[in-house]
Amino acid sequence: MRASRIGKRLALALAAVMAVGAAQVWAAAGGAPVTAARLTAAAPAEWLGHGRDYYEQRFSPLARISQANVKSLGLAWHFDFGERQGLEATPLVHDGVIYVSTDFSEVWAFDARTGRKLWDYKPGTQYWQINTCCSPINRGVALWGDKVFVGALDGRLIALNAKTGKVVWSTQTFPKDTRLSITGAPRVIKGVVVIGNGGAELGVRGFVAGYDAQTGKQKWKFYTVPGKSGDDGQVSDAAMKIARPTWPGGNPSGFGGGTPWDGMAYDPELDLLYVGVGNGSPWNAAVRSPGGGDNLFLGSVIAIRPETGQYVWHFQETPGDSWDYTSTQPIILADLKINGQLRKTLLHAPKNGFFYVLDRATGRFIQGKNYGPMNWATGLDANGRPIENPAARYGDTKKPFVASPGPGGAHDWQPMSFSPKTGLVYIPATESNYLYIDDPTEGGAGPTRLGYNTGSGAFSAVTRLPSQGPAPANINEGVAGADAATPRSAYILAWDPLKQEARFRVPMLKTFNGGLLSTAGGLVFGGNGANEFAAYNDATGERLWTFDTQTGVLAGPASYELDGVQYVALMAGWGGTVAPYGGLTDANGPARLMVFKLGGRDKLPPKPPYQRPPINPPAQTVSIAEIDKGAALFARNCQRCHGGNAIGGGLGPTGPADLRRSPFIQAQAAFDQVVSKGALQHQGMAAFGAELDTGMTQALRAYIIHQANQTKTIN
Ligand code: CA
Repeated sequence: MRASRIGKRLALALAAVMAVGAAQVWAAAGGAPVTAARLTAAAPAEWLGHGRDYYEQRFSPLARISQANVKSLGLAWHFDFGERQGLEATPLVHDGVIYVSTDFSEVWAFDARTGRKLWDYKPGTQYWQINTCCSPINRGVALWGDKVFVGALDGRLIALNAKTGKVVWSTQTFPKDTRLSITGAPRVIKGVVVIGNGGAELGVRGFVAGYDAQTGKQKWKFYTVPGKSGDDGQVSDAAMKIARPTWPGGNPSGFGGGTPWDGMAYDPELDLLYVGVGNGSPWNAAVRSPGGGDNLFLGSVIAIRPETGQYVWHFQETPGDSWDYTSTQPIILADLKINGQLRKTLLHAPKNGFFYVLDRATGRFIQGKNYGPMNWATGLDANGRPIENPAARYGDTKKPFVASPGPGGAHDWQPMSFSPKTGLVYIPATESNYLYIDDPTEGGAGPTRLGYNTGSGAFSAVTRLPSQGPAPANINEGVAGADAATPRSAYILAWDPLKQEARFRVPMLKTFNGGLLSTAGGLVFGGNGANEFAAYNDATGERLWTFDTQTGVLAGPASYELDGVQYVALMAGWGGTVAPYGGLTDANGPARLMVFKLGGRDKLPPKPPYQRPPINPPAQTVSIAEIDKGAALFARNCQRCHGGNAIGGGLGPTGPADLRRSPFIQAQAAFDQVVSKGALQHQGMAAFGAELDTGMTQALRAYIIHQANQTKTIN
């Protein structure tokens, strides 16, 4: 009797709720719907969108935590996700609830005051790991109405009920026979959920698309590069009339790349959505586009209408990209007084090393300058086009070139922040270089062909193959001897976008810095690879406060206020593309969400000990040719997770392992169980059986054993 009465009451309540529509359901449940008005002028106390609001400045107007009192900042609460994993998400905060995403596109909701977990959602994307270029991270969720949206690694765009975490709808955004993946945060504009994708290292053609927030139905699709032939019947067909002539030999592979995997921003007055477009596929322009050309819209910012996807303008930052210089880096919209005139500008610091100030109404170049050292170009012309160093086109010259910056970029996805208070842009900047050697046959005709010698980082005595002879000296001016993709230095750069000069630099202790937040309290917050979360004076860079996170930090922080208390929230977890490189093994700590407030007294548990397994390889018995074969296979299939030259970052037990230390190299049968048959698939190690035959896995194991023996000999 009792149960049925409750059931009846529930049914009545449900009927009433259904009658009033989605927005009111949210209100009835104790919250207010997330709307365009709120995302345009977010309340200072909230963090509603990826970069706080549509303008994505990552500036919090909250000032209770100030230069004067930040010394008393302490942990309010923390939540350990229980695994070592790469965390890159910016927390969103609405109506007392904090929403984050973790590895493999999992979504979590917490009480923002106490850290009490409200719900979690696990879409089960581990099986798609084989199709990702750069680990299964996720950069965050989006809020709209009464829903939370996540782009899942395997291409599903999923709407969850914000109160319960239950799936409302799920839409597959790309066919499963392409090696695309989603790691970026969706944006929602006028009831349209916009998401792009990644995978330009795996032979794909990028696109960005809009979906109905209520139903998940696709509303429009914008391909970022032309297809192999003809029109696609999509909204981008009109834009391809501009793009196709810039591929004079066509797009012979049909891939092209151009995956828009991260940066977006929206101007509600102009009704323009800005999307950053990624690198070319294959990387080597001479291989990708034998006829030459600028290859639009690679390395560009495009402006489109959010409801229709209709093209409005584009600005190409890296014409004919050959170096993995993506323009997917975070986009900031700010109104700046330039030569006495208030201009609606778009600020951008893409991988190629130039800082751009664009007119965001027209896409016209206002000014720009390199914000770090570079050798691939000598400057920008009056239209903002790079003045290239001819030697940088290794595919044309057929001569090796060590490019600065390298493919990690002078700045990558880690969010930068603009403070209207100081007028400065705070950039997590990196200095690096990388050796490119033209190799049109690399990867055969396979989809993962990049067109350059992917094993080319093997310079040093530790990593060099016997067949390669002595390390080359002075490949070009003064940068020989560099290890592939290893950042040389990292620092917070405070950049004045008007004067185009650095105000100050804060060097990082270890060679990696995470995303940044600036606040009205005169502070810049950011974490780094030295397991440190710190607050800096926004005018001088003086380090005012630090906290030991026990884990390397990649993600950008957020700030919010509840009951008159200001909080700063940060995701700390070491992984992504940087973890396999550089050997920052100390950064490999527990993945966690941490929330700070003045006088906070929560304490982290002691850091769990992590003993790296010893390097104890079996003796090497195979030929040098076999090892070389393994090296090439490793470079193409393994190094994107396990590190260049098999020198992993020591991640484990659930991150990509340092394979020199793996017990599975002791016997071929055990190695094949993992590599071919997927014995560790539940930990994210995909089964490569369909791609690597027995001869290949034997060569791979031989190469890893060789690298392990080399290290052992030298150490
Ligand atoms: Ca790339």
